[in-house]
Amino acid sequence: MNENPLKVLFLASEATPFAKTGGLADVAGALPKTLKELGHDIRVVMPGYGFIDREKFMIKEFMAELTVPMNGQTEQAAILETTIGQAPVYMVYSPKYFDREGIYMYHDDADRFVFFCRAAMEMLKRIDWAPDILHCNDWHTAIIPNWLHTIYKDDPFFNRTASIYSIHNLAYQGVFGHRVLEIAGVAKYQFMIPPGVSPENQINMMGRGIFFADLVNTVSRTYAEEILTPEYGQGFDWLLRERRDRLYGILNGIDYEVQNPATDPHIYRHYDLNHPELKLENKTALQREAGLAEEPNTPLIGMISRLSDQKGFDLVGQVIEAMMDNLRFQFILLGTGEERYHHLFNSIKDRFPDRSAVYLTFNASLAQKIYAGSDMFLMPSRFEPCGLGQLIAMRYGSVPIVRETGGLKDTVSNYNPATDSGNGFTFKKYDALAMYTAIVRAIETYRYRERWRTLVNRGMSADFSWRNSALKYVDLYRRALNIRADHPVPNEFLNVPG
Ligand code: ADP
Repeated sequence: MNENPLKVLFLASEATPFAKTGGLADVAGALPKTLKELGHDIRVVMPGYGFIDREKFMIKEFMAELTVPMNGQTEQAAILETTIGQAPVYMVYSPKYFDREGIYMYHDDADRFVFFCRAAMEMLKRIDWAPDILHCNDWHTAIIPNWLHTIYKDDPFFNRTASIYSIHNLAYQGVFGHRVLEIAGVAKYQFMIPPGVSPENQINMMGRGIFFADLVNTVSRTYAEEILTPEYGQGFDWLLRERRDRLYGILNGIDYEVQNPATDPHIYRHYDLNHPELKLENKTALQREAGLAEEPNTPLIGMISRLSDQKGFDLVGQVIEAMMDNLRFQFILLGTGEERYHHLFNSIKDRFPDRSAVYLTFNASLAQKIYAGSDMFLMPSRFEPCGLGQLIAMRYGSVPIVRETGGLKDTVSNYNPATDSGNGFTFKKYDALAMYTAIVRAIETYRYRERWRTLVNRGMSADFSWRNSALKYVDLYRRALNIRADHPVPNEFLNVPG
């Protein structure tokens, strides 16, 4: 048991296994579990989306009615309750805001997430549980550090609470009109992010999180450095440089209990480090299921990803035909996203039916089959805060081919046959030819069985579990508490007329 346990509320818009669109859900599902195992009193709060299966996850009602101030009035929420591991999970439910098919991209997203955050704060007071740390994640919860300096500033309940703001993806910022400040009850404070971030009449939630949080972190060290530059800063490099003394990078882990080829219920045949050869059965079964030629010796390259430019699909688009024409490999893709990429991959599938398989959908079970059945995992991202795909791939013995950016750079090093070092294949420049060359190197190396086996083993035996990173978060939480006590937010940006 931890001698000095912390009380932490972890706020996220998505968390596995309940609701997921990307890596944030994986983090929210795993980090709190590990922190709990380390002896801290960590609790998660997320929206109780209508599509979440309450029976399956044993979700119970925790609080039938909670009054939530919104937009100068009050509305009602219900709070539901379940667990992730031993960590309690609260879900803020409101039919008006959360009975939707999806998670994001609704016209009232500003209202929905402000409501979620406010309900979370009010719930804490109702249950009389004042956290040491409010751990906010991405723009959906960015209003909270802002509130600690405004509406809750003089509230004794929160006067020892510090805030952490974690940036999982700087590209999604939550940009709204001024009305969001009224909804959130902070309009009268009249402060804005200083001009220059986005058009003057816009409110940027991400900016508020960065500005008001006691500490800010992102999910790898390299990304924490990259976002200080205009190339990666998404308009916020100046503010991040301003806050540099409060900016940290902590690599995400993956849940080694869930992501485990020895126990994964979704894959065809279990295997582990001592029996990596059994991985081949997963490859054969995947080839069969996906309609690919059942060729054990042809390298199978997998991709599982949102289909967006961020993930490097413009590079893939430029050379995929040439790759299929010139190189001997099979390709399997699972992903949804931009329409033009749906067209692109449908046409690849039509042209190369027994060498390519394309699933334009979100399918968590198939994803595991692809991690287990593929030989290589391609992630040529333009930018990548951390990236989980490459970590899961390594755990399943699929060798990553990545661009050296963000968390990809921090976790994958280039294979050097001369020194027999490295755990994957990397390229630097964001360029289709550079990617093509890395893929050629991977396919070439695959022919040397012993070398390939070393690479597979290296990935499978690496430790990207959450424990190390969770300890770093504990350290960050303690720093935030000290900073909160010593340095209130500087005043120079406050009261800029809005
Ligand atoms: P991001 O959060 O930017 O989308 P990450 O690599 O951090 O990227 O996390 C992506 C996560 O979502 C991984 O766990 C990956 O397996 C999963 N994923 C992405 N697309 C799909 C899909 N179409 N079906 C199933 N899982 C997916």
